[in-house]
Amino acid sequence: MSTEIDAIRTAILEGAPGDELAALPLPASFRGAVVRADEQTMFDGMPSEEKDPRVSLHVDEVALPELAPDEVYVAVMASSINFNTVWSSIFEPLPTFQFLKRLGKESIWGARHDQPFHVVGSDAAGVVLRVGSAVRQWKPGEAVTVHCNYVDDQDPSSHDDAMLASNQRIWGFESNYGGLAEVALVRSNQLMPKPKHLTWEEAAVNALTNSTSYRMLVSPNGAQMTQGQTVLIWGAGGGIGAYAVQYVLNGGGTPVGVVSSPERAALLREMGCEAVIDRKAEAFRFWSDDHTQDPAEWRRFGKSIRELVGVDPDIVFEHPGRQTMGASVFVAKRGGMIITCAATSGFTIEYDNRYLWMNLKTIKGSHFANYREAWEANRLVCEGKIHPTLSAVYSLDDVGEAAYQVHHNLHEGKLGVLVLAPEEGLGVTDGATRERLLPEITRFRRHA
Ligand code: NAP
Repeated sequence: MSTEIDAIRTAILEGAPGDELAALPLPASFRGAVVRADEQTMFDGMPSEEKDPRVSLHVDEVALPELAPDEVYVAVMASSINFNTVWSSIFEPLPTFQFLKRLGKESIWGARHDQPFHVVGSDAAGVVLRVGSAVRQWKPGEAVTVHCNYVDDQDPSSHDDAMLASNQRIWGFESNYGGLAEVALVRSNQLMPKPKHLTWEEAAVNALTNSTSYRMLVSPNGAQMTQGQTVLIWGAGGGIGAYAVQYVLNGGGTPVGVVSSPERAALLREMGCEAVIDRKAEAFRFWSDDHTQDPAEWRRFGKSIRELVGVDPDIVFEHPGRQTMGASVFVAKRGGMIITCAATSGFTIEYDNRYLWMNLKTIKGSHFANYREAWEANRLVCEGKIHPTLSAVYSLDDVGEAAYQVHHNLHEGKLGVLVLAPEEGLGVTDGATRERLLPEITRFRRHA
C-alpha cells in the first residue's frame, strides 16, 4: 500500500471531514484485482470447470487514471464477488478486453479504459475522495455504495429507461477501473448512499444482485409481481436468488425456492421461505443426454411445486439457462411469466414452444437495473427492509480464491472482499438500527 493510500485510509478510519480528505494527495497508482491482456488465451481449449480464477486474477499496481468532469474517485473500503468477475477471470464467453477496446474508441475519456490490464469488480462501498468539476450531487467524504449501470447521460437513448441505452455497459466488467481495487473510477450517476447500519463489507455486497432482483420482480420493467403471487426461484440461496426470496416475501407472495443442499434448504426456511425444493435430493434430470430433454422430468418437477404450494408459479425467476429453461417454461402457470437475466449453464436455450404459446406464457429478458431501480433497491436496504446476504469475507489478496468459490457454487449468498477496511465490522454509523436487525443482517454469515 502506498503512503498516500495509507494516509487516505487512516483519515477515513478516523472519520476525517470531507475537506480534509479532499486535501490529501492522491496516489500515483493503486492496487487492484486485474486480468491481464497477455494472458487472455491462457485457458484456451480447457473445459470451463478447469479454468481457474486463482491463476488468472492478480493484484497489480496500476496507474491512477485521469478524472473526467462527471466522475468521482471512490476510496473502496470493501467490494464483492459477482459472477461477472468469474466470467472475466475465465475469459468466457469472451475476453473482456474486447469491451475495453470498443469503449476506448468512443471518446478521449473512453480511451483511458483500453489498457493491457482490466481492473474488475462491479460492487463497492467506500468514501468519495474527489469529485470532477461537473459533479453536483456528491461531495468528498460521503459514504457511498456504487451500482454498476454505466451509461452516458448525454445519449438520448439513455433516458426513460437507461438499461435501453445504446451504449449501456456494466462497470467493472465492460469498463475498466472497477470496484475490486483501492480506488475506483465511478460516474457520479452510479453513486448511492451507504446504508448506515451496515459494515463496509455488508454494504458492499448488495448493489449488483439486489438491484437485478428488484428489476426482475418488482419493477414495471420486469415481472411486476403483485401480492399473493407464487414465484419459483432457481438458486434461491445464491447471489440474486436470496434477494429474490426477500422481495417475494416482502411483497406478500409465496416463494418456492430451489437449492441443491439440505443446508441451503434450512437457510431458506429460516428466511421464511417455507416451500423449498432440493434439486439434488430429488435428482431432477431434465436432460437425458446433451441433446435431449425429458418432459417426464418437467412434469415431476411441476408436481413437486404443486405438492408444496397447490398451484403453478405465476413467475419463474430464471438464470441457470440451458439446464433449466425447458422446465421453467413448462411449469409456469397459464398466462405466467418466465423472467430471465442469465444462462449460467449455457446460453443456447431449448424449450417446447407449444407450452409457451398454447398457454399464453411470456419469456422476458432483464438486465441489471436503471439508476432509479438501483436507488429504490438501495433505499430498501437503507430502511432495513432488505438485508445483505454476506456469507464470507476475503481479503483483496485472496480475490482469486473468492472467485473460485463462486465459480464452483461453493458459497451461499454473497462473498465480500475487504479492500481498504483493515478488518470486518467497521463503518457502522447507526448502531441502534443494526442492533434491532442483527439476526437478519448476519443470517448468511452464521450459516456459512
Ligand atoms: P450464484 O451466487 O452463483 O448463484 C447461482 C445459484 O444458481 C447457485 O446458488 C445455484 O444454486 C444455482 N445453480 C447453479 N447452476 C445451476 C443449474 N445448472 N441448475 C439449477 N440451479 C443452478 O450466482 P448469482 O450471482 O446468483 O448469478 C446467477 C447468474 O445470473 C450468473 O450467470 C450471473 O452472471 C447472472 N447475473 C446476471 C445479472 C444481469 O444483470 N443480467 C445480474 C446478476 C447476475 P443451487 O446449487 O443451490 O441450486
